[in-house]
Amino acid sequence: MNTIYEPESHRHQRITRRHALALGAAATAAATVNFNLLAAPAGQRTVVVWSEGTANVNANSKKVYPNDINIAVAEGLKPLAARGWQIITAGLADPDQGLSDKRLNDTDVLIWWGHQKHGDVKDELVAKIVKRVKEDGMGFIALHSSHFAKPLKKLLGTACSWGEYQADGTSVKITVKEPNHPIVKGVKDFALPLIERYGEPFAVPTPEAVPLDGVYTKPNGEQAPGRMCLCWTIGKGKVFYFTPGHETYDDFFRPEVRLILANAVEWTAPKR
Ligand code: ZN
Repeated sequence: MNTIYEPESHRHQRITRRHALALGAAATAAATVNFNLLAAPAGQRTVVVWSEGTANVNANSKKVYPNDINIAVAEGLKPLAARGWQIITAGLADPDQGLSDKRLNDTDVLIWWGHQKHGDVKDELVAKIVKRVKEDGMGFIALHSSHFAKPLKKLLGTACSWGEYQADGTSVKITVKEPNHPIVKGVKDFALPLIERYGEPFAVPTPEAVPLDGVYTKPNGEQAPGRMCLCWTIGKGKVFYFTPGHETYDDFFRPEVRLILANAVEWTAPKR
C-alpha cells in the first residue's frame, strides 16, 4: 500500500478518503483510486519516493529499514506537508513499477533508491522519467547506490561510477561547502559514524554545485575526500545526487539527512 501524506491545508481530502475506506472498499484500492479521482488542489505539489524494495528483505538491512527505505525517507519529508506537498511512496513491485503515466505526470519531484535491481527497471519507464525531467522540469533525486540507477545514468550521460566502494567501518565528516545554497539551508556540519565509502573520482559531468563536501576516515586512520552531494540542471529539470544512504546504516532516520532531503525536494521542484 502506498503511504500518502497529504498537505495539511487539504484535510478535506483526508476525510474524504477515510470515509471511502469506512465504506468497506479494499484499503489499497480505495486509497489509490480515491486519491486518483481527486483533482490536485491548486498549489499542491507531489513528491514520490521510489525504492526497489530490497532493503526491507535482505537480512542485514531489514533490521534498519523493516518498512523499506522509501517509507523512512517519506517520513522524513513530513514537514513538507505543511508547505503544500503531498508525499507518496512507490516501488518496483507496484503496478507499472510504481510509476503509471498518470502518477509520473502528476509528480513534481521523484526520489529514487535502488541497489540490486537497477536492471529490472524497464527502459520504457526510464525514457518517460528522463523526458519528464528534461522537457517538463520534474525534479530527480538519486540516493546513494542509485548512482547506477538507469534514470540517473541516462540523465547525466556518463558511467556514474565511483572510484571505490567500501563498507568497512569508514566514518565521514560532512561540511557545508556552499552555505548560501538552498539545499543546505539550516544545515550545520555533521558526522556519520559509519558510511559506505564511495571514493573519488565520481564519473559524472561537472556539477553546478556541491553544497556538501566530505572527508572520510578509514578504519586505519587514513583520510580521503568524497563529495557528499552534487547538483545539475539537465534540460528544464534539476537533478540532485546524495552520497550517503547505505541500506545497513540509519542515515535516513537522521535529522540532518532529513532536512537536506526536504530542502532538496524544494530545490529540485519545478518553479511555478
Ligand atoms: Zn550501499
